Order: sequence, then C-alpha cells, then structure tokens
Amino acid sequence: MAAEIQPQPQARKPCLLSKIEALQDVVSSAVIIPKEDGVISVSEDRTIRVWLKRDSGQYWPSVYQTLSSSCSCMAFNPETRRLSMGMDTGSEFILSEDYNKMTPARTYQAHQGRVTVVLFVLEMEWLLSTGQDKNFTWHCSESGQQLGTYRTSTWVSGLQFDVETRHAFVGDQSGQVTILKLEQDNCSLVTTFKGHTGNVTALCWDPVQRVLFSGSSDHSIIMWDIGGRKGTAIELQGHNDKVQGLCYASHTRQLISGSSDGGIVIWNMDVTRQETPEWLDSDSCQKCEQPFFWNFKQMWDSKKIGLRQHHCRKCGQAVCGKCSSKRSTIPLMGFEFEVRVCDSCYESITDEDRAPTATFHDSKHSIVYMHYEPTTGNLLTSGTDKVVKQG
Ligand SMILES: [Zn+2]
Ligand SMILES: [Zn+2]
Repeated sequence: MAAEIQPQPQARKPCLLSKIEALQDVVSSAVIIPKEDGVISVSEDRTIRVWLKRDSGQYWPSVYQTLSSSCSCMAFNPETRRLSMGMDTGSEFILSEDYNKMTPARTYQAHQGRVTVVLFVLEMEWLLSTGQDKNFTWHCSESGQQLGTYRTSTWVSGLQFDVETRHAFVGDQSGQVTILKLEQDNCSLVTTFKGHTGNVTALCWDPVQRVLFSGSSDHSIIMWDIGGRKGTAIELQGHNDKVQGLCYASHTRQLISGSSDGGIVIWNMDVTRQETPEWLDSDSCQKCEQPFFWNFKQMWDSKKIGLRQHHCRKCGQAVCGKCSSKRSTIPLMGFEFEVRVCDSCYESITDEDRAPTATFHDSKHSIVYMHYEPTTGNLLTSGTDKVVKQG
C-alpha cells in the first residue's frame, strides 16, 4: 500500500525507511502526519486508517473508520488535525492529539459523484475540491460553508494553489491546465495552457521560483515558468510510464516524480534548463539537401530517391536518417533518455553536457499516489500492491 523514502541531496539516493503491508485493499491515498511518525491511509475497501510508528520501528494501526462510500482522495490539516475526505458528501473527521481517536466532525454536500482532488489552503482557511461532476468548489474550512464554484470543461485530476496571488491551477483530463483567480466568493478565468498529449495526472507548484510542474499520462512532465513571464515551458522526459505523482522539495530544489511502473525520478532543479526547439519544416534534408519523399520535383530533377524526414531534438532541423544516425541524452533540455540528434549537434554535445540532472530509482511497486513531507524530507508512495512505503 505505501512507503517512506528519503531523498537525500548528498547521497542522492532515497532509502526505504519502512513499509506498511497490513492492508486489505489498494490504497488510493495516504499522507504523512508531520512530527508524529504517523501515516493516514484511505483504501478502496472504504476504510481510513491511522498508523503510528511504534518503538519497534514498525507501523501499527491506531484507529480506523469505515466510510459510507468510496473515497479516492483526502486532505489533512496538521494544525487542526482535521481530515477531509473526498466524497460526494464531504465528510470530515477530527483526530485526537495522540492520534488514537477519530471523531466525525461534519458532512456537507460538496459534489455530485466522485471527488477527484481535495486541497487545504491553511492560510486562507479554504478547502478546495474538484469532482467528476466537473465542478471546482471552495469551502470555508472552518465553517464548512461553500464559498464559490466554477464549472470546468472536463473532470479535474490535479489542483494547486498559490496563496500569494490567490491563483488556482486546475489540471484536467484533456491535458489542459486552467488558471483561475479566486476571490472570497467568486472566481475568474485567467488563462488556459496545454502542452500534454495525455491527461494531466498531477500538479505541483513551487511558490518561490513561481514554477508549475504538470505530470501526465503521456509520460512527460512540463515545467511552466510562470514567474519568468516569458512563456518558457520545459519538458522533462525521464519516465517510461504514466506520471502518477509530483512533489517539490524546495530546500534542496529537487522535483520528485513517480510513475505507475514504479519509477521514481529525482530531478535537480538547481540547474539552468533549456527549452526544446520548434521542429523546422523542409522539403529536403537541411544537412545534405537530399529531397524528402514528398518532394517529387527535386527527386525527378536530381534523380534521387526521396528520404524520410526526421528531426534533431537539439536544433530542431529537418534531417534525413543518415545525417542523424547518432543518439544522445540532452539532460539540460530534459532528455534524460537518448534521443535523435543530427551529426553536427552530436559533435557539439560534450560529456559534461551529458551529465545527468536526475537520478532514477525503483520503488518496486506500481505507484498510485505520492506524498512528500518537507519537514522530515520523507516521501511516501502507495502502490497497487497494497503496500505503503516510506523513505
Ligand atoms: Zn541528410
Ligand atoms: Zn541538430
């Protein structure tokens, strides 16, 4: 179900701290209780469980509750110990100070149908949520009163909030990210951007650098430099499967991403990254000038066979296969895997340029959900194998 892994900037390798295996069903969400050595999990068997680390170093269940309907997300406010369950009828519980008791606090109608994301904004006393009913709503987390709602075009799978400017980032199933400006009781659409070919599966916001990261089922992550105001968007290619979780460790400037094949990538964001070039269009190879196969005139004039067009990932030029026979990683452009480059770009890439800017790890389970606790630097992953790992 879930695991605890500690990404250490020096060692650059997460190590497994503990595992929770005593679960009956797949854990859809789990959070670390800061300062308490505890974990709260919600699984598909409709139970919420609190696990506390005992002297033996193992996690033991302290309390549990069975919910009236299925729940795939939750939000925990460590200050008030309020636990908000993402259900059609918003259900909240209060945990006692010793985390040995869970008391139902209140219920309210939040969404029609499954809730997809819930998020506490402690500074505003807001609880943001989105559901399969395509509504984005925000409630007062103290009174439980609904403050406002916004209709999205498709259902939402990622949600982040910038406290300073009160902007909500909403990532959806169409691969779009919508930015909304929230007021106390209304909101306005600021802009929408799209860069993924698959669903947005996770969002992560770095309020210091003012950068938004979006992860997608298309295996890629895009870093949207909102603070830079130049429209820079950098792609990070380091996963072989759907990205399932994104967390940002601001003190070490590392982005941590997890995918459904169990891969965990720790990206060094303390380097200057470059945008990938636009792909150029040409009727013939921009290196050797051989015609591409649709350029009948030149094929006829020069009695040459038409070639297939490829693109160099570094310069974006349209080249033939012969002029782009080499492969290279280009880590500063986000290509941690080898990609096609033209021969002259290949010559220009030095070993120094090829130094990886990310480290790759295996969580050894198919990741469903990830949670990072900045005060301890612990990362929690929950997997389809019903195990929660912490490291
Ligand atoms: Zn060529
Ligand atoms: Zn090139």
